[in-house]
Amino acid sequence: MAAEILSAGGVAVTVYERMPNVGRKFLLAGRGGLNLTHSEPFEAFIARYGAAAAHLRPILEHFPPAALMAWAEGLGQELFTGSSGRVFPKSMKASPLLRACLARLRAQHVTIRSRHEWQGWDDSGALTFRTADKEIVRVAADATVLALGGGSWPKLGSDGTWMGTLANRGIATAPLQPSNCGFTIGWSDIFRTRFAGQPLKNVALTFGGQTIRGDCVVTGYGIEGGAIYALSPHLRDCIAAYGSAAITVDLRPDATLDQLAKRLERPKRGQSMTNVLRKAINMSPLEINILREAHGVDIGTECLPIARNIKSSTLTLLAPQGIARAISTAGGVAFSALDDKLMLRDLPGIFAAGEMLDWEAPTGGYLLQACMATGVTAARGALRYLKNA
Ligand SMILES: Cc1cc2nc3c(=O)[nH]c(=O)nc-3n(C[C@H](O)[C@H](O)[C@H](O)COP(=O)(O)OP(=O)(O)OC[C@H]3O[C@@H](n4cnc5c(N)ncnc54)[C@H](O)[C@@H]3O)c2cc1C
Repeated sequence: MAAEILSAGGVAVTVYERMPNVGRKFLLAGRGGLNLTHSEPFEAFIARYGAAAAHLRPILEHFPPAALMAWAEGLGQELFTGSSGRVFPKSMKASPLLRACLARLRAQHVTIRSRHEWQGWDDSGALTFRTADKEIVRVAADATVLALGGGSWPKLGSDGTWMGTLANRGIATAPLQPSNCGFTIGWSDIFRTRFAGQPLKNVALTFGGQTIRGDCVVTGYGIEGGAIYALSPHLRDCIAAYGSAAITVDLRPDATLDQLAKRLERPKRGQSMTNVLRKAINMSPLEINILREAHGVDIGTECLPIARNIKSSTLTLLAPQGIARAISTAGGVAFSALDDKLMLRDLPGIFAAGEMLDWEAPTGGYLLQACMATGVTAARGALRYLKNA
């Protein structure tokens, strides 16, 4: 995005990328359906950025979801808005959009130098890159936009090593931490063996007064998926402070306690409670065994306490999964180190954009939207800087 805006502004642009090709994480994002942005009203949208919302507000006002959608459509991608308000390309993939974007960059004479790993600056202020042949290439740039990503999925290229380079230059950063990540739960061996990989559909997870409706997946290590990702910043912070975090799972959020208790009363005598749960409430073996993991192997026979357990099972999360498998990262370049054009206050002419800045947001299109919008702001800032230089 930054390269497109800078080159459209009449500047000679070179993109340096350490990997053999660009956009690997973007391509991975498209594997499960590329959620480009979200169509909810702007105030609700901006609130998703939590503590960073105030910093991102002017940036997202300048490049809101509608602008990102128009950009993608301008590149020939038909979009659709799902029932949840999430916006996707009709193809669901990232590759056609990336191809179209790269074609536009070629048309605007942008040079891409892959297998060039940025190392920092030399004494003269030139950027230094290490090539695949381990040669050091020096480049004196009039302006630079750093868009080095966060630290998740490091094998795709973004490994956060730039944190040390910037810290050595006195740039304030917050440690990279996993965001939108899974969490460890001490499942019993029998539960883990039987249910790892199975989805928990349409549940409500509550933590710290926040309730998220959605789906998650039981894994061998614990739990992952959209509903838990949305709670991940608070869960991560609670675990860091207290060693664990207890979430409450409502397995039937659309039914009241009384409705559930009544449905459990009806069935015939002689049936096991497991059968009653299966037949009267349509509970899957996974859901029934979540009750056992949370409340003990004996489910009991009293309707009201069982209904209560269905509405409220506590699971204790012990640790966030490592950064390498997280969807995104929190932390990065502090907004206090940047001016309103995203230029590093202490390094004039050096701008930063994307996930490497200190913000986080849930899945739902908020990540790419903020990456693209900060890319726009940084590029416009760089154009203005070059004009005034
Ligand atoms: C599995 C998965 C699914 C996702 N799905 C979605 C989704 O549907 N919607 C959404 O909004 N977001 C999604 N995301 C998040 C989204 O992909 C990222 O937030 C986004 O790609 C970050 O963009 P970026 O340009 O800041 O960083 P990146 O995409 O990480 O790009 C940074 C680039 O910099 C390069 N680089 C890093 N260090 C150096 C160096 N020293 N020298 C040279 N090059 C370097 C890297 O190789 C990389 O190509 C998903 C992420 C994952 C992992």
